[in-house]
Amino acid sequence: MTQASRFSFIAGSISFDFAATLRDRGVEGETDLLARPEDLDAWLDAAGLAPPGVKHKARQHHLRAAVRLREAIHRSACALIVRRRPDAADIALLNSIAAQTPLRPQITAEGVTMFAPRLIEAAMSTLAADAIRLMAGRDRARVRLCPECALLFVDNSPAGKRRWCSSAAGCGNRAKVRSFRARQRAVAGA
Ligand SMILES: [Zn+2]
Repeated sequence: MTQASRFSFIAGSISFDFAATLRDRGVEGETDLLARPEDLDAWLDAAGLAPPGVKHKARQHHLRAAVRLREAIHRSACALIVRRRPDAADIALLNSIAAQTPLRPQITAEGVTMFAPRLIEAAMSTLAADAIRLMAGRDRARVRLCPECALLFVDNSPAGKRRWCSSAAGCGNRAKVRSFRARQRAVAGA
């Protein structure tokens, strides 16, 4: 598996894609894709938050801060879904990171790339700001948690009635197959 293909970018928002780096959260097969500082570097590249060719090297403290941010995003979004007030400490963290200098777009010969003197810190600020906009803005009613794989996503369907994420694992399909089998068992046992 290539570095980039470990990560999924199907959540409909970059901050939720970031939250998805703890894959199958709380369910069978949970995997932390941000286990080492190099994983954070790989994710930033895969997410297009680091300009191609610009060197960045995450250190252990960057990883710790990134995981703290990721968990604050996840908890706050989950609170929103069940209409609970997010934890004050999580909101304070999101606010303080979002207040830092974010990535800035720059026009180069290759097109528009994102730039910042302190790239990793700036990327975290961009992620925190994205999460805040999502959770406090118009899309807040469209924030969902996939009941199969616990992935946060933004329901962009016209009717706004999507239940499952659109992962390659086919969460919706998996759930339907399971309920079909349960019905069959019930019929066989009747
Ligand atoms: Zn799912």
